[in-house]
This record gives sequence, structure tokens and C-alpha cells, in this order.
Amino acid sequence: MAPSQDHKNQNGLETVQETLARLGVADDADWMAVVLFARNLVSAMDMFTEDQKGQLQARIFEHMAKRPLDRPRFERIVQLIQRALLDNPVVRDLKAQLASERQVFDSLYSEMSGVFLEIRESVTARENTMKRMGEDADRDMAAAAPPGEVLRRLRGMITEMVSQAREEARAWQERARQLEHTANFDPLLSELYSRRALDAQLAAALERCRRANTPLALMFLDVDNFKNINDTHGHQVGDGVLRVLAAIVSAHATQFSGYPARFGGEELVVLCEGLDESHASARAEEIRQDVARCPFVPHLTTPDAVPPLHVTVSIGVAQIGPGQNGSDLVLAADRAMYAAKSQGRNRVVGHSQLAPYRAP
Ligand code: GH3
Ligand code: MG
Ligand code: MG
Repeated sequence: MAPSQDHKNQNGLETVQETLARLGVADDADWMAVVLFARNLVSAMDMFTEDQKGQLQARIFEHMAKRPLDRPRFERIVQLIQRALLDNPVVRDLKAQLASERQVFDSLYSEMSGVFLEIRESVTARENTMKRMGEDADRDMAAAAPPGEVLRRLRGMITEMVSQAREEARAWQERARQLEHTANFDPLLSELYSRRALDAQLAAALERCRRANTPLALMFLDVDNFKNINDTHGHQVGDGVLRVLAAIVSAHATQFSGYPARFGGEELVVLCEGLDESHASARAEEIRQDVARCPFVPHLTTPDAVPPLHVTVSIGVAQIGPGQNGSDLVLAADRAMYAAKSQGRNRVVGHSQLAPYRAP
């Protein structure tokens, strides 16, 4: 370690010990951990914004300023830290993604169980047919049936087996299609691809567009004030609104061969192969207008009447730039979406309209 760095760290450590001594808990490992967490670790954590870091540090030190610094106070601070870590957008996003993956896994598991059962039944049926063929042939031979008759019967049985196999192949093809759908589409908004499928599609589309030298754009949609809808009408109505929105977005995407996916929560994206930012923005504007015009009537499983809701979306649009990867494209469209929010919501903003990004 360079001498200056060593010196700085030692100074840092001394100050921690001084702080602890001032608080009357010198040499207490638990309190030292709290002070080190608040002072050093929090500032290095990317999951918090600068504001959140400041707030968390202030709250921890506020607690520590109260006396006595006993076990209950230590536990309250640990709870405060735990809550800040768990109730964070990054963690919430990961949790939601995990829950959705789990739902997909459960559905795939139950569908696969059904498939295995059908495979067993189909093998048994084929074994029975083969057994019947063997028995019939034995009987014919014992009865010394004329060869023409034996041949005719054998042909009949083979034709029956071939048509059975053809029927099964058709059913398996349909089964494979269903399994693929479960694996690649969102469990709640079944018209939209899942985040996992989007990642794979984004990488493949990027490769295609690079090779063909064609543009690639992405729309990032976020429902405006969606929390209000949930809070006023309940989560089930919120889900209904998302289903109507998914239908509108996927109907539009079909028209320009867009790839509509659920990014997470109430955020959708549409990958637009072959479109640049300005063409994709024009398509996004059509979606925005359709959503704003459409009276949302959520279909509920309960008979509670809900008046048609007025829903709007903010959309950010970006196109891939030289040397950028898929995540850069999503990030750029996300930034443009946030700009649309701050400009008053219910609008489309293109990334090229934004001021250049400067790292803090
Ligand atoms: P803004 O205009 O700034 O986007 O406001 P907002 O209220 O839409 O934004 P915020 O991110 O605060 O709230 C999003 C809400 O979406 C919070 C979350 O509970 C809700 N949500 C996320 N996923 C789902 C879902 O699948 N179904 C339902 N009903 N609600 C969801
Ligand atoms: Mg959101
Ligand atoms: Mg929102």
C-alpha cells in the first residue's frame, strides 16, 4: 500500500475510534461496525442514490446521538439498515424478477409433468398396438390364412400406426409451442415477451443490425401515476389496466414487427429492429395517443364495478450508437423516459433531445 493511502486509512480509523470514544462505546466491535458502515460502506454502494446515501447516514448518526447506546438502540439501527437495503428499487426489481421467473418455472414444471405423463401413455399405446399386431400375425399363421389376406391385414395395421404417429407428432408440435410460450412470455401479461427473452432477442437483434448496417431503436414505456390506480382501485384493477395496455402495445408492435416485452412492474419496452430513433418515436407517439384515448375497462374476476379509467404513458426512445451494447440502449431509452416524466408525463421524448449525460 502506498504510504499516503496507509496514512489516510490510519487517520480514518483513528477518527472512528475517536467517534466511538466520544459516544462512550470505545472498543465495542458492534458499534465500530455501525460507524464504519455509515461512514465508509454506504458511500461506496451503487444501489443508493447520493440523496439516499446522505439520508441513511444522517438517520444512523441521529440514532447514535441519542443515549444510551445500548443493545435495543443497536438493534433499532440494524433494523433501519436492513429496511434501507431491502426497500431499495434495485432489490425490489430483483425480487420482482425472481418472483416472475419462479412463476414461469412453476408453470413449466407443471406443464412438463403433464408432458411426461402423456409420453408414458403414448409409449403404452404403441406397445399395445405392436402386441396386437404380433398376436394377429400369430393367429393368421396358425390358421394358415392365405398370404394375400395376411398382407392386406398387415398393411392395414401399418397404415393405422402411421396415422397414429402423425396425429401424435401434430399434438407434440402444439405442446412444444405451448412450452416455448410459457418459457418466453410474461406470466401476467401473456402477450408480452419476458425480460429473459428480451435479453436474448436484444443480443441477436444487435448482431443482425450490425451485420446489415441497419438501425435499431428501443421504446421504454412507463405508466403514469400507476401507484394511484393501485391505491384507489386495488391491485387487481392495476393488473387489469396492465393487461389492456399490453394488448394495445402488442397490437401496435405487430404492425412494425416490433418486439414487445415487459421490462418489469409497469414498465414495458418495444425493440424496433430496422427503425431509427425518429421513426420509432413516431410509432411511440401513436401508442401514446391510443393509450390516452382508450377507456380502460379492466375485466375483473369479481363483480365490483369500476368506471373506465383514464391512463397515460410516458415513453423514452433511443437508438443504438457506435460501440454501444444492449444495456446501453435500454439505459438511454430509460433516461429519455425519465425526461418525459419530468417534462409533465404523457409524452414521448427521444434520447437525442437530451442534454449529454455527465457522470456525477
Ligand atoms: P410515475 O408517473 O412517476 O411513473 O408514477 P408511478 O406511480 O407509476 O410510479 P411508481 O414507480 O412510484 O409506482 C409504480 C407502481 O407500480 C408501484 C408498484 O406497486 C406498481 N406495480 C408494479 N408492478 C405491478 C403489477 O404487476 N401489478 C400491479 N397492480 N401493480 C404493479
Ligand atoms: Mg416505473
Ligand atoms: Mg410509473
